[in-house]
Amino acid sequence: MGTLATLFAPQRVAVVGATDREGSVGNAVFQNLVDDFEGEVVPVNPSKSSVLGRECYDSVAEVPPVDVAVIVVPPDIAVEAVREAGEHGIENVVVITAGFSESGSEGAARERELVDIAEEYDMNLVGPNCVGVMSTSVGLNATFAPLNANPGNISFMSQSGAFITAVLDWASDRDIGFKDVVSLGNKAVLDEGDFIEEWGADPDTDVVLGYLEDIDNGRAFMETAREVTQDTPVVVVKSGRTDAGASAAASHTGAIAGSDRAYEAGLEQAGVIRTETVQELFDTASVLAGQPLPDNENVAIVTNAGGPGVMATDAVGDSSLSLAEFRDETLSELEEFLPDGANIYNPVDIIGDAPAERFERTIDAVLDDPNVGMAIVLACPTATLSFERLAEQTARLQEAHDTPVAGVLMGGTSAQDAREVLSDAGIPSYFDPARAVDSLDRLQEYATLQDREYTEPESFEVDEEKRDEVLARAAERDSTRLGVEAMELLDAYGIPTPAGRVVDDPEEARELAESIGGDVVMKIVSPDILHKSDIGGVEVGVSPDEVWDTYEDLVARARQYQPDASILGVQVQEMIDLEEATETIVGVTRDPQFGPLVMFGLGGIFVEVLEDTSFRVAPVPEPEAREMTEEIDAAPLLQGARGREPVDTDELVEVIQRISQLVTDVPAITELDINPVVATADGVTAVDLRLTLDQEEL
Ligand code: ADP
Ligand code: MG
Repeated sequence: MGTLATLFAPQRVAVVGATDREGSVGNAVFQNLVDDFEGEVVPVNPSKSSVLGRECYDSVAEVPPVDVAVIVVPPDIAVEAVREAGEHGIENVVVITAGFSESGSEGAARERELVDIAEEYDMNLVGPNCVGVMSTSVGLNATFAPLNANPGNISFMSQSGAFITAVLDWASDRDIGFKDVVSLGNKAVLDEGDFIEEWGADPDTDVVLGYLEDIDNGRAFMETAREVTQDTPVVVVKSGRTDAGASAAASHTGAIAGSDRAYEAGLEQAGVIRTETVQELFDTASVLAGQPLPDNENVAIVTNAGGPGVMATDAVGDSSLSLAEFRDETLSELEEFLPDGANIYNPVDIIGDAPAERFERTIDAVLDDPNVGMAIVLACPTATLSFERLAEQTARLQEAHDTPVAGVLMGGTSAQDAREVLSDAGIPSYFDPARAVDSLDRLQEYATLQDREYTEPESFEVDEEKRDEVLARAAERDSTRLGVEAMELLDAYGIPTPAGRVVDDPEEARELAESIGGDVVMKIVSPDILHKSDIGGVEVGVSPDEVWDTYEDLVARARQYQPDASILGVQVQEMIDLEEATETIVGVTRDPQFGPLVMFGLGGIFVEVLEDTSFRVAPVPEPEAREMTEEIDAAPLLQGARGREPVDTDELVEVIQRISQLVTDVPAITELDINPVVATADGVTAVDLRLTLDQEEL
């Protein structure tokens, strides 16, 4: 695939299906191009000799060389037009036409044809079923949107075409400017990963924004995004978050929405900032596009109003930011010129009679303080304060100190002009103090992301022979559900398990128990019994002389539960002292787009009731595995709360990595649960196992 530079900065564009007929897509696209495009635009339509006064060509094969062909003709003709464009050496095609994979099997076949043609001629193909592309760099508006984008440094892609037109409308009076805009449509060829890559390399794009309903190839996307986000922030609002939303997304662009957990983890791991709402998306974009990154996470608040100052302070408390502590020089300077009744400590309250000049000196003093990473200038309208003057000075000081600032102007029309002054200087301003704090919080989030260094996942030495033996046995028995009889798989991957194995007669059980020594644990082993203890299938603390009888009891209970259950035998296992232990869970599910997803949590109610879990897309490198053990709410229980000894987190972190390696190595494992992994101060032990295999992958 060629570079996308000529897609966004073409010299000549052809519109296949251009027409004079008002109200048609072919007319809207052509008109938009005629209006603003700096290059040349050529109509193609066999039934016209000219469109809007321009000489019209019968087919795309006849036009003089163009960089982009925009296709708006009906679907079957569109496929032929794309082929002709390919034969004619046109590098980029934008297929606006609908009637492809979003509309049944015939459309899907047509879309496959498009993909084949694009591949054959090495073409960049946007769409089909999209609104088109824009680039303000050359006045390119190859869309049928009724509005053009304001120029700026944000590049925006959207899987919903309607959302693009809505955003352009909304942004038009908000000083939000764009470099490139692309409607992704069905993403038959070019997808979110391609555009992120392009914009990551584009010096004129400072922030990448996306509205995504699904991500086609999660792993590839993560790899691209991980690189790009080192230099360029990528902010995504992803829809289909709740189950209801997910089914809406599926019926929308024919997208199969991946599970939200996978997106959440994958985007996070790739350094992509995800927002919940559209407002947050643009708040984040504006602050990233307009402000420098902070040196530290400490905020100074300067205000002429006590109450709103407290609101801002509370919002800082709820965020990942902290309230800056001023150094002594700053405090004595503030003390010098601020009147009695003012508060020189953060939040600095310069009181209600403050003119702009008092704001100015205060802002200058706090921005001078190296303890301050960013500032919020918060003003309520008063008779003594000129908002406009305040805005001008804030802009000047922000630039002079090169420290990020957000404005809170708590006025309506009286604040309008001042807002514009701030916005021209790239300083976001809001009515609500909490929004200013949120924006700065996002700025800090990106600063932290950028500092983060990616560590390659560790590759542990494993016993491949043993692993393959277990899998071969499963393939032979054609079992899709495995339990503790597959514990050797864990042994093969160096995950500590108790001594023991599965036996199928009581005498053997007795001998095994004897060799293990002391009391043992015995469990029924049957692919038909998922939760062994639920049916009385687990006995702990079995003394050697009880082993024989317990064996027969366990089998009898299983028979009683399900007479035709297939019983593989009984597992006799070394007993682990649970007195000082914490039961944790390490699990895996497989996401269609992102692949294996590793879960960590604490056992019992923590997972089942509170869903207190942490997810990462595999393979999981060490720092990410460690984060998993630290970010669950119940983490203090692992770290030694209530006088307990902290568990061996290093071992736990290693188990997570080893499981991640296992499921990456063995694609046939579709689900896996080690519940529990018993963690103590001295180490961890996996005492149970359940997994699901896809026989076709074996
Ligand atoms: P299941 O989850 O199918 O009911 P488990 O093997 O997880 O079966 O056993 C149930 C519980 O019994 C575990 O959560 C743990 O508390 C306890 N247990 C299981 N194996 C051992 C063992 N080897 N040592 C000590 N306790 C165990
Ligand atoms: Mg269990």
